[in-house]
Amino acid sequence: MATQLREIPHFFADGSSSPADRYSDVFDPNNGGVQARVGLGGAAELEKAMGLARQAQPAWAATNPQRRARVMFRFKELIEQNMDSLAELLSSEHGKVIADSKGDIQRGLEVIEFACGIPHALKGEYTVGAGPGIDVYSMRQPLGIVAGITPFNFPAMIPMWMFGIAIAVGNAFILKPSERDPSVPVRLAELMKEAGLPDGILQVVHGDKVMVDAILDHPGIAAVSFVGSSDIAHYVYQRGVAAGKRVQAMGGAKNHGIIMPDADLDQAVDDICGAAFGSAGERCMALPVVVPVGEDTADRLRAKLIPAIEALRVGVSTDKDAHYGPVVTAAHKAKIENYIQMGVDEGAELVVDGRGFSLQGHEDGFFVGPTLFDRVTTAMTTYKEEIFGPVLQIVRAKSFEEAVALPSEHSYGNGVALFTRNGHVAREFTARVQVGMVGINVPIPVPVAYHSFGGWKRSGFGDHNQYGMEGIRFYTRVKTVTQRWPDGGAGDSAFIIPTMG
Ligand code: NAD
Repeated sequence: MATQLREIPHFFADGSSSPADRYSDVFDPNNGGVQARVGLGGAAELEKAMGLARQAQPAWAATNPQRRARVMFRFKELIEQNMDSLAELLSSEHGKVIADSKGDIQRGLEVIEFACGIPHALKGEYTVGAGPGIDVYSMRQPLGIVAGITPFNFPAMIPMWMFGIAIAVGNAFILKPSERDPSVPVRLAELMKEAGLPDGILQVVHGDKVMVDAILDHPGIAAVSFVGSSDIAHYVYQRGVAAGKRVQAMGGAKNHGIIMPDADLDQAVDDICGAAFGSAGERCMALPVVVPVGEDTADRLRAKLIPAIEALRVGVSTDKDAHYGPVVTAAHKAKIENYIQMGVDEGAELVVDGRGFSLQGHEDGFFVGPTLFDRVTTAMTTYKEEIFGPVLQIVRAKSFEEAVALPSEHSYGNGVALFTRNGHVAREFTARVQVGMVGINVPIPVPVAYHSFGGWKRSGFGDHNQYGMEGIRFYTRVKTVTQRWPDGGAGDSAFIIPTMG
């Protein structure tokens, strides 16, 4: 008898379910099997969540900020208590190793910690005496109901980037997570409820383009935050803005790591291996391109990279010694392997070939071995496009000028890293490079929670970054009050201050 597949439900405030007529499979990337299915919703499911959000949001906005912060404090404790089970759930659907899943959760949690300080961040501004008897003050008010659409690769961190801030400032939030690993986002909503969040303030609806379009077109949703690939980010930005919404849409990436001749090569190789291959390269802040400056630097780097790459251990996500696990789906594995073939066809030198990798006992898992290309050029499609897999490309630069130009002229502009011992070179690079997040001897420069995250060019559409004060600006709007209290004279009864007794 066939066993029934586990079904991952929407998370509605009233606890109800909603039968679907379309489903998407959720795989176990470690063995290639289908482990669950998720119903794909649309306008009807969204309307249900909207009705519940509408009832709840005004009271939440009127709740004082300390009380809202207390929910965040309790949520933080609950996440910490549930860290192990959340990480296991995350790894089982995504494929990243447990340590990476814990990192995914931890980086989201840091935004929740920032949100615990929301009373301070919402204090506003005040000018006494802008004119005779005139004071001016500004306050930030929530937008109402807002939505977030998130990618598969950080199913804990990115939802927390968004709802942590959106909810703390007083909005109701509707989350549409990736249909490829939707269980952790639902679990996060359950834990927010357990932390004391009123029903209707955080709901999760599942779906694909149909649900995304319903969100973008819904007149009751004031703002949409999106993170995913660039073509879809651009589409979401345009359609959302056309519908009169505030939209921030973060896209894909092709981050470069520049190696100056004076860099500490052993440290750089260690950093690059972690940044290029960690999480199977499925990070928007991965470093898939390395740019040594000068032929001598390139040759020395290559000589050190090859043994380091060959020593990487690819394993199942529960393997504590594995550097990385499988990629998310069979389709994604095929796409990465196609890019490797394209690189060969385009004339790049394939130094380490990760295709055809098979893990004993997990032959049907979605594994791709680490891959290294040398002599990649800017004309190649494999250089221009995001591969999003464990593939590292060496692009040799003749000079510092060329090394600044490469990431600056690339269509993506998410992150970049420079490896050098020279402070002047670092300052010059930082000032000139056309990229949103810069690391100096830091391979993955994801900003801490009290700064903010955002790329340039095709890596980010819209005006505000994720989290930090930028997140607060995105999820609120400013109201400015100019008030005048004329001087009624010393004898005015309004000036008589009542005394005790
Ligand atoms: P994706 O673009 O396929 O999906 C993102 C979201 O869009 C999902 O919720 C998905 O259901 C939805 N979606 C998919 N197809 C759609 C369509 N045709 N119309 C409307 N919505 C659609 O991205 P992914 O594969 O889940 O995630 C990987 C991508 O996300 C990579 O490009 C990566 O660089 C990027 N990313 C960017 C950042 C960042 O902050 N810049 C962070 C993480 C990931």
